[in-house]
Amino acid sequence: MADKRLAIPEAEWKTVYEEAVNYFRALLRIDTTNPPGNEAQACDYLAELLEKNGIAYEILESAPGRANLLCRLQGDGSRRPLLLNAHLDVVGVEREHWSHDPFGGELDQGFLWGRGALDMKNMAIMSLVTVLLLRRSGARLSRDVIFAAVADEEAGGRYGSAWLVEQHPDKVRAEYCLGEIGGFSRVIGGKHFYPVQIAEKGICWFRVKAKGQPGHGSLPNWDGAVAKIGRAAERLGTRRLPFHRTEEAAVFVETLARHQPFPKNRILRKVLDPRWSRIVLERLFPDKSMARSLYAVLHNTANPTILRAGEKVNVLPSEAFLDVDGRTLPGQTTEDFLREVRSVLGGDVDIDIIHQMPAVSGSPTDPILEHMAEALRLHDPLAIVVPYMAPGFTDANHYSRLGIRCFGFSPVKLPENFHFVDLMHGHDERIPVEGFQFGLRVLFDLVSNLCT
Ligand SMILES: [Zn+2]
Repeated sequence: MADKRLAIPEAEWKTVYEEAVNYFRALLRIDTTNPPGNEAQACDYLAELLEKNGIAYEILESAPGRANLLCRLQGDGSRRPLLLNAHLDVVGVEREHWSHDPFGGELDQGFLWGRGALDMKNMAIMSLVTVLLLRRSGARLSRDVIFAAVADEEAGGRYGSAWLVEQHPDKVRAEYCLGEIGGFSRVIGGKHFYPVQIAEKGICWFRVKAKGQPGHGSLPNWDGAVAKIGRAAERLGTRRLPFHRTEEAAVFVETLARHQPFPKNRILRKVLDPRWSRIVLERLFPDKSMARSLYAVLHNTANPTILRAGEKVNVLPSEAFLDVDGRTLPGQTTEDFLREVRSVLGGDVDIDIIHQMPAVSGSPTDPILEHMAEALRLHDPLAIVVPYMAPGFTDANHYSRLGIRCFGFSPVKLPENFHFVDLMHGHDERIPVEGFQFGLRVLFDLVSNLCT
């Protein structure tokens, strides 16, 4: 595809940056901690900005105080729409651990501070400003550009993207969706990697139930419910589920390896070899958080998170429960996963599924990835796009049910020692102003190339 980016004079970008930062600060000041979410207030703010710019929008309320904003720039229909998605809700904060007001929209030391600065009010503003710039340019669009600012992603999307997909599918249906998680820079060995989410693991949350003889706590009991559930927790917490090589994980590892020197590249490739994978990840990998991420995309996982049993110290309970956060790889069915879980647990307990969502498979060869790389390299010549699979879930899980090809691409350039994943739900969440401006520029270039 020929490069059809719209040119905006350099001098004008200065004004655009200022405008975007002002909008961003105002949005960070609106507390959208979920629960309760209160995204309606944030929608009203974005609506006001669209209104001022003469762009039509819709606010769709899924529950009191929970709202989703949609706006659409019409294209000529020669290609199917592009959806820009950002969730407006944020996770909670422990204020005592913050050095800046998490809802103050403060600008300090070159950073914008606040909950949502990276996850993902930045994308909401970048998308909004991209829409404003497209409209102001008067450019003829080859496809509709839809901007969705949604509720409730942090709690699973029931009042946000899941609700839109179920209640208003035609309003969000698109060929591509750009959203989270990806597009942030990560410097490894002097190389500028930009992970782009192309797939995500599914969910299979389940409850393990153990039964035992009830009775008085003064009498011996060798096989009580508590002992059984304790064994189940111990097994799930310490044993490994089987290795699975997926196309998505293989592309991720291969791309990283290609840009590493010998012998690092050889060692990295060994994680795709079932005979070596575990030894390499657990013993030879210097970066432990990276090793955990790689482990997660090569295995189904089942982490015990909640234990419940008994009410009184002198009463033996007849039942005990263990809730488990299970995550499944693309290509794995719930039955496949539970078979693996049962073989670890043994036969003494029952399993009930609490909630499940299938994994989202991705296409590591989709041409949009090359367009992302081009847009990034215009502003960071060292940029390398790395397709990856997210171990957690995002709005992509819901949108992909409509056949939308979803990519995690909310570009931001981060300082070298800055780890996106540590900050996104952590204390002192912040974004470098320059990195945000970089992201806006990259997103605008990509969207104008894809849509004009
Ligand atoms: Zn998020």
